Order: sequence, then structure tokens, then C-alpha cells
Amino acid sequence: MDKWDAIRRDALEEGHGLSLPAAGIDLLLGPPNAGKLGEIVAWAAAHRPRSPVLVVPSRADVTSLTAELVGRLGAIVGSRPVMTMDELAEDIVGERRAAAGDLEQLILVKHLLAELKLEAVGEVAGFPGTAAAVLGVFRELADSGYETAEIGSLLAAGANRESGSIAGDMGRIWDAYQAHLAEVGLVDRTDSLRAAVSAIPGWSRPVGFYGFLSFTSGQRSLLAELAGHVPVLIALSYEKGRLGAHGLDAEVAWWQERAIRVRTLPPQDGVFEAPDLAALERGFMRGSVDSAGSASASRTGEDWLGEETGVRFLLAASRQGEAEQVAREILRLLGEGYAPDDIAVLVRRLGPWRRTLGHALRACGVPHRMDARVRLAQTGLGQSLTSALTALTTREVEPLISYLRGPYCSVPIEQVDAFEIDRAAEIRASGEACMQLLKETFPGSVDRLETAFGKKGSGELGLDPGNLQQLAWEMVVSGTRGEDGTGALNEEDLQAYSVVVKSCDQLSRISTAGWDGELLSAEDTLELMGNLPVWLGRGDERGVVRIMSVARARARRFPVVFMMGLVDGEFPLRQSPPVLLDEGERRGLNLRAGADLLPEARTGEDVALFHHALSRPLNLLYLSARDSGDSGEEAVLSPFWKEARATLGGARIWRSRGLDQVVDTPDRALTRREYLRGCVLHGEEPPAEEDRDLLNTKVGMFRAVAPKESAAVRAAISRRTTFSAGELETYHQCPFRWFVERGLRVQDMDPSSMPLLRGSLLHAVLEQVYGHLIETGSFPLDGSGRMAAEEEVSRALHHHLGRMGLAMGAGQRRLLEREVRRMVGGLLDRETANASDFTPAATEHSLPEDGVKVAEGIRLRGRIDRIDLSQTGEEAFVVDYKTGRPTRQKKLAEAGSLQLILYVLALRGERPEVNTVGGAYLHLRFGEVRGLAPHDLLGGLSPGLSGLKGRGEDEVEAEIEQGLEAAKKAVDGMKAGRIAAEPLGECPRFCDWGPLCRSKRGA
Ligand code: SF4
Repeated sequence: MDKWDAIRRDALEEGHGLSLPAAGIDLLLGPPNAGKLGEIVAWAAAHRPRSPVLVVPSRADVTSLTAELVGRLGAIVGSRPVMTMDELAEDIVGERRAAAGDLEQLILVKHLLAELKLEAVGEVAGFPGTAAAVLGVFRELADSGYETAEIGSLLAAGANRESGSIAGDMGRIWDAYQAHLAEVGLVDRTDSLRAAVSAIPGWSRPVGFYGFLSFTSGQRSLLAELAGHVPVLIALSYEKGRLGAHGLDAEVAWWQERAIRVRTLPPQDGVFEAPDLAALERGFMRGSVDSAGSASASRTGEDWLGEETGVRFLLAASRQGEAEQVAREILRLLGEGYAPDDIAVLVRRLGPWRRTLGHALRACGVPHRMDARVRLAQTGLGQSLTSALTALTTREVEPLISYLRGPYCSVPIEQVDAFEIDRAAEIRASGEACMQLLKETFPGSVDRLETAFGKKGSGELGLDPGNLQQLAWEMVVSGTRGEDGTGALNEEDLQAYSVVVKSCDQLSRISTAGWDGELLSAEDTLELMGNLPVWLGRGDERGVVRIMSVARARARRFPVVFMMGLVDGEFPLRQSPPVLLDEGERRGLNLRAGADLLPEARTGEDVALFHHALSRPLNLLYLSARDSGDSGEEAVLSPFWKEARATLGGARIWRSRGLDQVVDTPDRALTRREYLRGCVLHGEEPPAEEDRDLLNTKVGMFRAVAPKESAAVRAAISRRTTFSAGELETYHQCPFRWFVERGLRVQDMDPSSMPLLRGSLLHAVLEQVYGHLIETGSFPLDGSGRMAAEEEVSRALHHHLGRMGLAMGAGQRRLLEREVRRMVGGLLDRETANASDFTPAATEHSLPEDGVKVAEGIRLRGRIDRIDLSQTGEEAFVVDYKTGRPTRQKKLAEAGSLQLILYVLALRGERPEVNTVGGAYLHLRFGEVRGLAPHDLLGGLSPGLSGLKGRGEDEVEAEIEQGLEAAKKAVDGMKAGRIAAEPLGECPRFCDWGPLCRSKRGA
């Protein structure tokens, strides 16, 4: 510590006194809101003649601290009084050196991964994301504060020779990476800190650091070196013994050892407008508070209305419910007079919230900005650009069709629809022929994409930076016809575009330097581009509600703060292990190298972040949690949310929005979306035609009518005697599914679902065609009857597709028409083959409304698709049409199929004079027949049923008996209220209720 003793001595001997030393560290500690900002402003004022600079974590902090300085000191003289750490390093160095950009670095690392002989990393070298992971570790290494050459040798020293070595591989890549950059005259941007350390002797401005919770090793080296030349003030949020502070003990001790002065500010009273806020901030995880805090305990949401101070607990079902509840609350606060700038929404990580929250706020008309970073491929423009260009290199057709359909291409959607319908077979086959077809059909669009490619020095296909940039801009302009149709440029697209522009500059530089030939293919380059970071906002925009991660909010305070997503696993965050070098490997490497090369995980980080976030609001804090996911699966409340309530003496939930409240009555709706959902639930017809159309066609609309009272529901079920064959079959397959679909009547109202539309259209067409053929006595069907039938098929398709028109697009309509025509045509062809004893005699036969008795206490209602009768009319055979795949199980009841058996029994009950000998399922899409038919009748059945296997008469009757027993059991189960999630076998793929029944199956 000689150096630091000398600094202390010089500072005193030079006679500057401890209040204004010539150099050295002035360490300022204290809990949040202890007055550190006031101290730092006073420090800046005292050093004004030397033009001090204040350093903060982000650009948004630069804006807010500059405003604070202007407010407190008046005009600021001198260049850039507030800046970020990167800007400080640049200013110290004083000259801009050509730094390698993100894409250049990724390209180089990816190239080295392919070229070098590697051990452990070699196994994953070709995986997408490995280059980005290696670069991430390089950035951590650069932050260690060691010199480039030192890092290489420390990595070699840290290599674990026994167990194959990631560290050894990293050392080899690191050395080659640095050598290549030096060769082409570029520096790694992470070098800037080390360059700044060397340039410090020429620096004379005092520097204050504010808003940091801790520093990296490289930053520590810079600060320590600065302190040898100029006064340095470091303000840290730290209070010994405070929650989460133990993670910072080592950091603070490091600075205490080197400081010439350490001041500790005590907590201040009166920094919060509301006593509850102060009580929570001071008392969190230290036991509940009785005085101010207990004020929340007995109060409900209604009690709080009209008071805009305090701590409010929100609870919702589902992430979407949480977002909508917060959006409504913000809307209410704006109505009460708060400005958007007064409000911040904090989440642990923005990724999962970006779309849901953005959508909810947009629906409420709340102006907002996200201060978040995403990958280029996660933006609309980036995804469309990179996937379409990649598809051209890999010759895949599907992504190109998606591009043509999307908002970034000007081809009308109807043309793409028509192409998909007309060329469905070629598209399925994909390949070069289909690619040529696509080019011929959409020459302008595909050719335009191809201009983004050019030949590299090596003659291989590469990207042409100039044309790529021009293409991206045209896509941005085309994207203005997107969602809102206002023609305004989309902010996210513009941010993504600026990343594309920077990438193109870097590609040009690589090309000019002549090292593109030896590097990557166009496909690899596009993959790397997709990984580039895009900032969605700057964080300092005005007139907007700001949405950011808790880590980004550390230096700023707001009148109102919403903390969302307080769910276990989200906040506190369940950390996923680093892609390369897990915690054990990092510890081992540091130990073997004898140096702090890579940071190891700090414990208690989430507690410290949460506690710090509690200090951000000035007068109103909302803590929002959810107890289920978007599909109804359970979500566990965050221990922080529960502890905060306990701290305030068990404060009540201020507002909650359970699953039963997700849909409000139309008159309480704040947005059109909520209004329409309310109309669906409450059976109201919206007055506007446009809204009615939307409801009729809206994709994914669910209708949920929950029983009001379970005892009443059970009583009603126990009185029932009439059942449909379909519901008995559903219960037999899974009682829970029956409860959801038939009891709660939750059903997917998606009218454009292909299986749904296919089934309805097929039944309607067959009813009309067979009805006509029966009426005209056309069975057995001969050649002319077959032609007449074909005409009837066309009429039926035209008629029924016309009726279903609203529910589908032109492409879907043509696809359906073809499928149904093919299925019906195939059946009619088989019918024409031979004359037979049995012929179709009735179609869509309705059983009586009060049902037909099939057993004691069970009456069946419903419609039988088709009944065939023998020539004498003494024997009947039931036919049921299916579009799904037939089961391979031999026994129908064991396979979960009861309908056919129940229809046979119902027909026996309704027409005792006729002998109903059996029945069959006709799986028209797959051309297969399954069912129950005695051997000796097989030859006489309708030729359309050819392929059906015969059984012994006893066998047929035993299976019918087995089906009836299953139906009785189902009725008993319904009446007893048994609704367990106990599927008969594997959950069917089509069942979407997995998350509701809490069964992973079918989820
Ligand atoms: S997922 Fe399985 S258990 Fe759950 S409702 Fe569907 S069929 Fe039943």
C-alpha cells in the first residue's frame, strides 16, 4: 500500500486540504436516497475551475443528471460535464482509433472457430451462438484489467490439462483474434479502457462516479490510475448490514483501502412522500413494521381510491392479465393528472414483457418507450431481411413465401395466396424447380433480394454492403403499410435499420481491407448479423412512460414506479448457466491462473436489486404479481412480493384480476379489445357493423361461460337423462376435457381453423349430395348418376363455401374446396364400382330432441351421418364420416370411440322393427374404413365401405356391449361430479387443455 500512502501524504503536503485534494479518492457511502446526489453536485461545484466531469452508467442517466446539474447550479460551462464510462475512456485517449465493430468481431471469431484446432470448444464450434458466446467471454476478459498479452498467458496457465480445456481453447482463439486485429490495424473496442489507463497522465479534469453499484476489474484499474493524477469522487449505494449489501462488502473494502477520505451518509427521513414507502424501504426483510406500515393492512382498493401515495399490491392471472391491469392503472393515473414522464415500469428482464406489455399499453393509448436491447433477428425488419436472404442461399421456399406475405414486401397478399394454392404440390416438394417458379412468379421481388449478394475476392458468394443497405431501407419504407396503416416510420424498424447500416459499413471495411475472401459465407454472415444487438430506445425520451429493467433504473427516481413480474423464477431470476465456462469452470480457471480473469456469480444480487428498486419511487409504488401463466398453468408468487406485504403488516391486495375477471362487462371496458371480449362473454351484440364482423371472424376468440355455483351445477347434471353421443365419448376419453368443453363450454371459436372448416364443409356437402342422390333414386350409382352427383358436388361446394365466406381468406377457400372435392369424389368413385344389397337411405338423420333410450337413465340425442338399408328394408347399417386419422386399436371402446356404437344402439331403440347390424367410420381423408360388421354381410354393404374388415356376430355384439358399459360409466361419473384429468391413453395432440388440467401432457 505504499503507493496509496504516498498519494495521501502528497495530497496533504501540497496544502490542498482534505476537502479539495489535488488527487486521490474521496469515497462517499450511504443507502439510497441518503443525499449522495446533493454531495456530488456540491463536489462538482467546488471543483468547477478544473472543469469536473461526472460519470454515470447509461445515456439516460447522462440526460437526467445533466438536467439535475442545470437545475441546481444554473448554466454549466465546459465540454460534456456528464458522460458514460465509454465516453470517459474515449475522452481520456483523446483520439478515435479504428475499433472493430460488433459484426467484424463476430465474423473474425466465427472464422477462427472454424480454422483453429480446438479441443473442448471444437465440439460446439459450428453451433449458432458459439461465436457470440466466445466474444462475450472475451469482453469479460478485457474487463479484467490485464494487458492483452497477459490475458493470453494467464489463460494458458489456467488451462486444465486433465479434463480437456475450454480455457486452453479460449487462449488459442484470444491470441489469434488479437493478432488478426493488429494485422488489419483495428483495435477491439474493449481495449479502450486499457488505452485510457495509458493516456491518463495527459488528463486533468476531476472525475466523479455516480449511480454504479460496483465496477469491473478494468474499470477499477482506470479509476485507481485516475486517482493518482486528479481528484476522484466515488459515490456508492451501500449501507453496512443492509439487505444484499454483503455482495458489495468486498467492493467497498477495496475502495476504502485506497481512499484518502471515506464519508458515510446516514439514512434520511422524509425522502418519500408516503409513510408506507419509507416503511417498506427500511423494513424490508427485517420484520414487519407496526407504525406507518401497518396502515396498509386493513385497507382494500376502494379505501385507497383518491390517494396517490403508498404501496399498492396488484395480483393478476396470466402475464397478459398483469400487463392489462397495469396498463389500465397507468391510464387511470394519467387521467388523475400524472404525466407519462412521471411513471416508470420496471421488470427484471424486458424480453418476456416486450410484446405483451407493448400491446397492452398501445391498446390503452399510453405513450411509452422501451429501454431494451434485443437481437436484430428479433425485430420485424431484422427477421424478415435475414431469413429471406438466408433462404435464397439455402434454396428454401417457405421463408421466402413468408417474406412475400409480410409487410416488408410490396407484393399483394392475394397474389401470394393464389401462388400457394395453385402450386401447393411444388411448394411441398420445395427444391430448385420451386425456387425457379417463385422467381418467375414474383420476378421483381426475388430479383431485388438477390441484388444483396455479390462475389467476394475469393469468388464465393458474399453480401454486397451497398445493395444490402438499400434493400433494408426499401423494406423499412414498405413496412410503413404495417399494423397501424398510418404510413409512419416504425421506431423499432429504424433502430434495426441503423444496425444494418453499421453492419454494412463494417462489411465494406472488411472488403476494402481484402480479408473477406478468406472469411465467411453469406449464410454465416447473415446468421451473425441476426445476433447483433439493437437498442429499442435511448431511455431519455420525453413525454412517455418508460419501461426498463430494474438494473437500468439504478440512478433514477420517478414519482410512480410499477414493479412487474414478481413471480418466482422471474424476480428473483432463475439464472441459466453461462453457455461457455460455468461457475465451477470460472472458479477453477481463476484459481489455476492465480488471477481474477473472469467474474464469478455474486450471491444475493436479486435481493439487492429489488431492495434498490424499492427506493426508486417518490410517492407511489405498485408491486404486481401473477398466480398463473397465460395458459392457466400455475405461477408461484415471488418471495419478494410476499415479504413486502408481510413487511407492511400483511397489506391487502389493492386490485386483483383473477381468471374470472379477465373479461369485464362491455360497459366497463377501457379498450376496444376488452369491449369485444366483454360482448362475447355477455352475449351482447356490438352496435357497430365493423365490430360485429370482427367478432364473427376473429381468430382465436374463446367463449367461456363458467358455472356460477358448483352445487347447482352438480344438481343440474344429476337430473339429466339425455346425452349426446359426442359428450359421452369425450368423457370416456378424458373427464376433465369433457368438463372444460361441455361443462364450462370453453371452446375454440376460431372459425378459420382448417380442421374445423374441413369437417363442417365435408358434412354439409355430403348431406346435400347424398340427400339429392337418395331423393332421385340414384343408388346403386351408375356412370350417369356419378356425373349428376359431380354437378351436385359443385353446387353444394359453391353454396356452403359462400355461407362460410367470412370465416376464411381466398387462399384458404380454394384449398378447402379442393380437399373436400377430392374426398367426396373418391367416395363417389367407390360407390360407382358395383351394385350392392345395402344402399344409402337417409343422411344426417336427427334423433328425437328428448333422445332415444339406450339403457336405464340414458337417452341419446344427436345426428347420424348416414343410414344404409338393405333391399328388403329389414336391415340397417350406420355410417359415420370422419376427417381424422383412424386408430390402429382393434376395439372401438378401448380406442376411445363410442359414437358409432351409441348410434347403432340409438337406431335399434328408435327403429326396433329394423335389424341394425353394425356400423362403420369412413375416414375420408385417408381412404380407410373401420367399424363393426358381421362377416356374412360384408359383401352386401355399400361399395363405398370396401376395405371394412368383418367380424363374428358375437364379437360385434360383445363390442357393442362394451361400448354401452363405457357410456354408463361415463354417465355415472358425470353425475357424481368426477372430472379428474385421467385420459384414456395418451393425451391427444389436439387437446389444448394441458395447462388447465396442470398435466404436461397435451400442453
Ligand atoms: S391434456 Fe390430457 S388430461 Fe388434460 S384435458 Fe386434455 S386429454 Fe385430459
